[in-house]
Amino acid sequence: MDINMQKRNEVLAQTVIKGLESRNMSGYYAADKEAAVKQALELIPEGSSIAMGGCASAHEIGLIKVLEDGNYNYINRDKLSPREGLLAAYDADIFLSSANAITSDGVMVNIDGNSNRVSCIAQGPRKVVFIVGMNKVCSDLDAAMKRARNVAAPANAQRFEVKTPCKTTGKCFDCKSPDTICCQFLITRYSRHKNRIHVILVNDTLGF
Ligand code: SF4
Repeated sequence: MDINMQKRNEVLAQTVIKGLESRNMSGYYAADKEAAVKQALELIPEGSSIAMGGCASAHEIGLIKVLEDGNYNYINRDKLSPREGLLAAYDADIFLSSANAITSDGVMVNIDGNSNRVSCIAQGPRKVVFIVGMNKVCSDLDAAMKRARNVAAPANAQRFEVKTPCKTTGKCFDCKSPDTICCQFLITRYSRHKNRIHVILVNDTLGF
C-alpha cells in the first residue's frame, strides 16, 4: 500500500475509534494483519468459547487458524447442525464478525440472509470482536448502506448457489427474490453494554 494511503488510514482509524468510543464501543488500530491477530488475542482469553458469523477477514488475517491450533474452544459451525450452531453461538463467550461497512463516526452496517450473524451481534454472545479492514470505512451512513448493498452483498452472493440480480450484474437491485441474501439490515449505532463490542481496524484490504 502507498505510504501516504497508509498514513491517511492511520489517522482515519483514530477518527473512527473516537466515534466508536462515543457509542459505548471500543476501537483499536492494527497496522497490519499480524498486529490485528495480536490485538484480537488480547481480547480473547485462552479457554474461551468462540463462534463466528462468516467472517472472511478473520480467516484472512490468520486468526481462525491460531484459535483452532491454540487453547481455545473454537466452535466450527460446519461440524454442527444449523440449530446446534446457532444455539452454541448465542451462548459463546466471544463472537467474531466483520462489518459490511463502518462510518467514519463509528456506525456499523451488516446485511444478513439467515440472520444468525446480525442476531448474534445484537444480542447473545458475551463479547463481540469485529475485524474490519480500512477498505470498509465510509464517510456516512448513506455511503455505508450503499457499500453494504452494492459491494459487500453482491460479492457475498458469489459464494452461494443463488439466483439474484446482483450475482450476475455486480450491483444491488433491491430484489425480493426467494434467494435474496438481504433479509435483515442491522445498524449498530450504540452498545447498551460497555465492553461488549470491540472493533479492530486493520490497515489492509480485508473481506468484502
Ligand atoms: S439484488 Fe437482492 S440479494 Fe443482491 S444485494 Fe440486492 S437485495 Fe441483496
